[in-house]
Amino acid sequence: MDFELTDEQKEIKKAAREFAEGEFTDIAMECDREEKFPRDVWKKACKLGFIGAYLPEEYGGGGLGLLDSLIIAEEFFRVDPGVGMIMATTFGSEFIFLLGKEEQKQKYLPPLITGETICAAAFTEPDAGSDVQGIQTTAVKDGDEWVLNGTKMFITNGTIADWMIVLAKSHPDAKKDAQRFTTFIVDCKSPGFSAEKIHGKMGIRASDTAEIVLSDVRVPKENIVGLPKMGFYNVMQFFDVTRIGVGAQAVGLAQGALEMAVKHAKERKVFGRPLIYNQGIQFKLAEMATRVEAARNLVYKAAALVDAMKPDAAMTSMAKWYAGETAVYVADESLQVHGGYGYIDEYPIERFYRSAKVLEIYEGSKEIEKMIIGRTIGGKY
Ligand SMILES: Cc1cc2nc3c(=O)[nH]c(=O)nc-3n(C[C@H](O)[C@H](O)[C@H](O)COP(=O)(O)OP(=O)(O)OC[C@H]3O[C@@H](n4cnc5c(N)ncnc54)[C@H](O)[C@@H]3O)c2cc1C
Repeated sequence: MDFELTDEQKEIKKAAREFAEGEFTDIAMECDREEKFPRDVWKKACKLGFIGAYLPEEYGGGGLGLLDSLIIAEEFFRVDPGVGMIMATTFGSEFIFLLGKEEQKQKYLPPLITGETICAAAFTEPDAGSDVQGIQTTAVKDGDEWVLNGTKMFITNGTIADWMIVLAKSHPDAKKDAQRFTTFIVDCKSPGFSAEKIHGKMGIRASDTAEIVLSDVRVPKENIVGLPKMGFYNVMQFFDVTRIGVGAQAVGLAQGALEMAVKHAKERKVFGRPLIYNQGIQFKLAEMATRVEAARNLVYKAAALVDAMKPDAAMTSMAKWYAGETAVYVADESLQVHGGYGYIDEYPIERFYRSAKVLEIYEGSKEIEKMIIGRTIGGKY
């Protein structure tokens, strides 16, 4: 067991840090206030190989392991969680990478890496989020096509995506409830497809979020990804990998918030000496730093298991839950260390505090993660 990053991983970390510090800092507040997706920075990140770095070289990717590529997400979120969401422009590609046919990989993956296209993954609906099997979007076979109808909610990149993975109920009469679903690749230019941006998010406001309406959207049968009737199982396989990415986002956010707290505690003078001289503040910093380290180790272990072709759903959920909770805790404590200055938007901790909460919600809330861990450690009860 080796807890050190390899030389290559250290290089990736350094390059991602330099890029994020150089490109994100000046635009972060504007992107947050104006809910603006940072298209230019995303393009630059594609050019430098930061986007889709985990995809194999044969599709134009960096051929990195999951752990290597999560170091990039961590560094991006350390500088700004909103702009850092440019990493999510490939959210959904993992589905094709893990479960797609060779033709689908060749068609859809390379343009994501070069920055020609953006994708999304649409599972959640107005009346079903945690309960994935509660979705109502339908897919009905019509000759060589499927016709999709329904509404998807809170879809990241919804108004800027070129295509998206959509989970729909295709076999309502299947014997097993979990076998009622199939996953499709939907072209966002298809007639009947519409997306409306959701305004007023609490945090990660540079990231596009939308409600999607599918109204008689016709999808060729070649666009089924994974196997018919296996959509629910496939989504769970997908989450076993992508949720670790949310854990990495959380570790990065927490690391950034911790560093801000240390800096402020050293610079701010109270009662005639720097704030950090007070043991009460040191205890806060100690607890924040320890939790960040613990979260990072969980995330790295879960990613290393995927890289070793031994994905572990419970380990993924432990990493995602604990890292998300750590991000919320550390952002809160860091803001407290900043006092009143933390409460105004001149200081980035205000943005970090608002952005942290979503890490306990999207791609499986903390309650759902605990449910998965509980079921696993409880066997079949
Ligand atoms: C900014 C943002 C981006 C998102 N991006 C995407 C995306 O790209 N694609 C996509 O498909 N979805 C996306 N989502 C949706 C997200 O994954 C869901 O919001 C999340 O899964 C929770 O679903 P819900 O909102 O319907 O809450 P609900 O399922 O209604 O749950 C409400 C609360 O009850 C808790 N709860 C539910 N069931 C149980 C239970 N059995 N036991 C205990 N507690 C329970 C939940 O944890 C939650 O706290 C995004 C959401 C946000 C906010």
